[in-house]
Amino acid sequence: MTAEQLTLLTPSDLRALRIVCKACRGSITMQLDETIPRLDECPLCHANWRQPPAHRALTATEALAAALKAWLSADREASPGYSVQFEITPPHP
Ligand SMILES: [Zn+2]
Repeated sequence: MTAEQLTLLTPSDLRALRIVCKACRGSITMQLDETIPRLDECPLCHANWRQPPAHRALTATEALAAALKAWLSADREASPGYSVQFEITPPHP
């Protein structure tokens, strides 16, 4: 028998969504209980983030942020009879 250690992420572990610009390495942090802004360009260096074909990934990022926000809100208000957890790769020591 082998023992496997799992690292799990729950809604209460999530604090914010951080977007890092590949052009300038600057980052913006969006609190998940705030309105998620449209991410057309880097607010720091103004690199265009919505240029095709990258716009698909950007649309998915905005959808993910909106889904996380809705999930956190529903989890807090509705107390469902289950909990959602993400299994993540543990950090290497
Ligand atoms: Zn930038």
